[in-house]
Amino acid sequence: MKAITFQNIREIEYTDISDPVILEPGDLIVKTTCTAICGSDMHVYHGRETGIDKGTAMGHEFTGEVVETGTGVTLFKKGDHVASPFTTSCGKCYFCKSGLTARCEKSQLFGWVENGKGLQGAQAEYVRIPLADSTAVLIPENIQPGYALLAGDILSTGYFCAEMAGVQEGKPYAVVGCGPVGLLAVLSAIDQGANRVYAIDPVDYRLNIAEKMGAIPIKLDDAIQEKVQDITKGLGFESVMEAVGSPGAQKLAYQIVRPGGILSTVGVHTAADFSFSPVDAYNKNITYKTGRCSARHYMDRVMPKLDGWSRKLDLIITHRMSLAEGKNAYRIFDQKLDDCIKILLIP
Ligand SMILES: [Zn+2]
Ligand SMILES: [Zn+2]
Repeated sequence: MKAITFQNIREIEYTDISDPVILEPGDLIVKTTCTAICGSDMHVYHGRETGIDKGTAMGHEFTGEVVETGTGVTLFKKGDHVASPFTTSCGKCYFCKSGLTARCEKSQLFGWVENGKGLQGAQAEYVRIPLADSTAVLIPENIQPGYALLAGDILSTGYFCAEMAGVQEGKPYAVVGCGPVGLLAVLSAIDQGANRVYAIDPVDYRLNIAEKMGAIPIKLDDAIQEKVQDITKGLGFESVMEAVGSPGAQKLAYQIVRPGGILSTVGVHTAADFSFSPVDAYNKNITYKTGRCSARHYMDRVMPKLDGWSRKLDLIITHRMSLAEGKNAYRIFDQKLDDCIKILLIP
């Protein structure tokens, strides 16, 4: 089959790799109907996260049509259309049972093969889904694959981010970073009851979409501190949702949260240290919440909302390209060309 494979830092190729086969009774093989490029693929692409084997299929966001089922699969049959979270989960361990599927004892991330071990990625024509009964989710007939794909990662992550922020009506909240996850955090925060969500980003086209999502845009420039002082009457934001994953974004989030507030962080940080110190945290009495989203857990909650959110989700999906154009798609996504927010790749 064809796949977008990792070759080296900033070097990916559309190449042939072997077709996935059933390895365990709980496996499904799906023919990919839709896949996507995620911000966290960029950490691998730029070498901020290392260890992935050369030739690994990239990507972890996908939907597919079931073409083969292991003998232990009970919930799916050939022809079913399924969505998947970006990690697998067993449904039985302590963490799965408590809703923390991201920390399942058997969790594996799609698109991460290291020293020959791990799962191939989803930017491929076929994908093997282990532990399918407790990982995959049937897509309702009226839902487009592209929307269901968002539920498997960035929409669940945005929803989780807003939930950690504990948003309420009437109080001011900020989202730092208007990439796909930040924009979906705006949508989710409003859905969860916030009516004053400020979106902060340096890029105008991203702020325009944030405004269409229902946020009040704030351009990130040298005057950001004064703007926040004015908006919050000197207090700072109740909670700040940080969806970037850079030291600069972390520092800004710290600076603009009010004393006693919450920093809700879903950006994947690759720096070794915090950009504020333990005493900085103490001096503002802040609560720092973070972690990989338990997407399988959140999918049950966001899938029923997809139909009603379709117009908003269409603002996020700015590009649909073929899988064969994947190399070019990475370039467009990475360099934020052509007002790009989210690229779906169709095999
Ligand atoms: Zn992702
Ligand atoms: Zn588990």
